[in-house]
Amino acid sequence: MQEGMCARFRLRPRFATYRAMSETNSKTIQGRTGPWEIVLGLEVHAQVASNAKLFSGAAVGAGGAPNSQVSLVDAAMPGMLPVINRHCVEQAVKTGLGLKAQINTWSRFDRKNYFYPDLPQGYQISQFKDPVVGEGEVIVERDDGSTFTVRIERLHLEQDAGKSLHDQDPNFTYVDLNRSGTALMEIVSRPDMRCAEEAAAYVKKLRTILIYLGTCDGDMEKGNLRADVNVSVCRPGAYERFRETDDFSHLGTRCEIKNVNSYRYIQQAIEYEARRQIEILEEGGSISQETRLFDPGKNETRSMRSKEEAHDYRYFPDPDLLPLVLDPAWVKAIEATLPELPDAKKARLQAQYGLTAYDAGVLIIEQARANFYEEAARGRDPKLTANWVTNDLAARLTAGGFDIEDSPIKPAGIAELVQLIEEGVISSKIAKDVFERMWAGEGTASEVVEKAGLRQVSDTGALEAIVDALIAANPGQAAAVKDKPQAIGWFVGQVMKETGGKANPGAVNQLLRAKLGL
Ligand code: ADP
Ligand code: MG
Repeated sequence: MQEGMCARFRLRPRFATYRAMSETNSKTIQGRTGPWEIVLGLEVHAQVASNAKLFSGAAVGAGGAPNSQVSLVDAAMPGMLPVINRHCVEQAVKTGLGLKAQINTWSRFDRKNYFYPDLPQGYQISQFKDPVVGEGEVIVERDDGSTFTVRIERLHLEQDAGKSLHDQDPNFTYVDLNRSGTALMEIVSRPDMRCAEEAAAYVKKLRTILIYLGTCDGDMEKGNLRADVNVSVCRPGAYERFRETDDFSHLGTRCEIKNVNSYRYIQQAIEYEARRQIEILEEGGSISQETRLFDPGKNETRSMRSKEEAHDYRYFPDPDLLPLVLDPAWVKAIEATLPELPDAKKARLQAQYGLTAYDAGVLIIEQARANFYEEAARGRDPKLTANWVTNDLAARLTAGGFDIEDSPIKPAGIAELVQLIEEGVISSKIAKDVFERMWAGEGTASEVVEKAGLRQVSDTGALEAIVDALIAANPGQAAAVKDKPQAIGWFVGQVMKETGGKANPGAVNQLLRAKLGL
């Protein structure tokens, strides 16, 4: 197995007994009593990209003063009636189509009853038995370029709650209802991920798809995309039996870790939780199904509530809302607006430009990056162009904190640089220098080459003089090359040194071979 995905478990003293098994099966955790495997299913909450809330016209978006984006509906004033926001439904349908999922033309909103200070209604409007989107799938790339499929169970629409603020006053808790009533899509996966890295890769891919679709901004720091992570452990073979029969009794009891909002925390939470469960099971205990919280400071999960304490939500259809009935023609019309999605784009980049799955996979992470590449690659060597976009340019952009749209070097700039390399005007090595100067604003590729005198010396006459002088000055080396032809590299190096790296390596090699009689 490659480094990267499902990498071996790092040891920590407390869990010293759980050592990674072998390089060939690092999904397995070696316990004291034998090997264990992890099973993971995720519930991802994605805030719908929308200017207004799910059932009111109040504005959505961070930045407003507390309680400045709250309609009477969001504040749950008596007698207020919710009205479904067509745009939010469209976004959910679009997302369903992007996940290759079943779109349910008949769905329904239910009340999920519970009390929370930041939920003024006393219930959340959600979808329970009849979600707007049914089964779909997401194809996920591992770091080594291989892929696996995560099945989607459902996607439903629901309201977000407000925010309790505990740090404003020593004696009081304040409430900010700006977020109250904001539309969320809850995307529930089947338990198809087998290690922490796979779970993180799934969320990454899902995020990319949502951003392509324009249905969620994917801002995890703001909590606009967050995951509830369900973790269980089982013995080898049990998962395969589950997949054959779809009978959950083959799996271990799961614990759900709520609201994890970074790839790193997702992985840390899973690794901690799996070890915790194994330790309990190996000591003869059993796992009780419960909801847990991840504490990044302590790098551990803590119990929030057990199944016994779980709420009885007393779901029932919201009598204020009619069933949501979609016109199939409307769904078709939405389908027609879908952009080229990451998987299709990746396949096309591979077919059209002959790129590797890896290169294509890196380019499609952002639409803008793929667009930049396609513009730069027009008429140029596609592989060489991909290298410049994914390596040198990407590194510079990351270091400078730039989005590719704001790159100081535009696609035409990369194209020109690649052209100069292709035409032998500069070597790949000199091109790095040219690139840095372009980045620093010294001019276009050809301007930099001319100004700084970086044009590659392919002129045999000029090179010949240097080669002759070198051979004459180093008769010993010249003689040695005859027995050991690889030693020609020393001469190439010397010529490069004398020309400041500007000699055309092909021309130099040819000349040296002729002169040294190889
Ligand atoms: P709930 O609302 O009670 O959390 P859901 O069915 O909506 O239940 O979601 C359950 C999530 O837990 C799904 O993502 C599912 O794939 C996952 N899951 C179910 N059983 C297991 C298990 N044994 N191990 C890991 N994940 C599981
Ligand atoms: Mg859940």
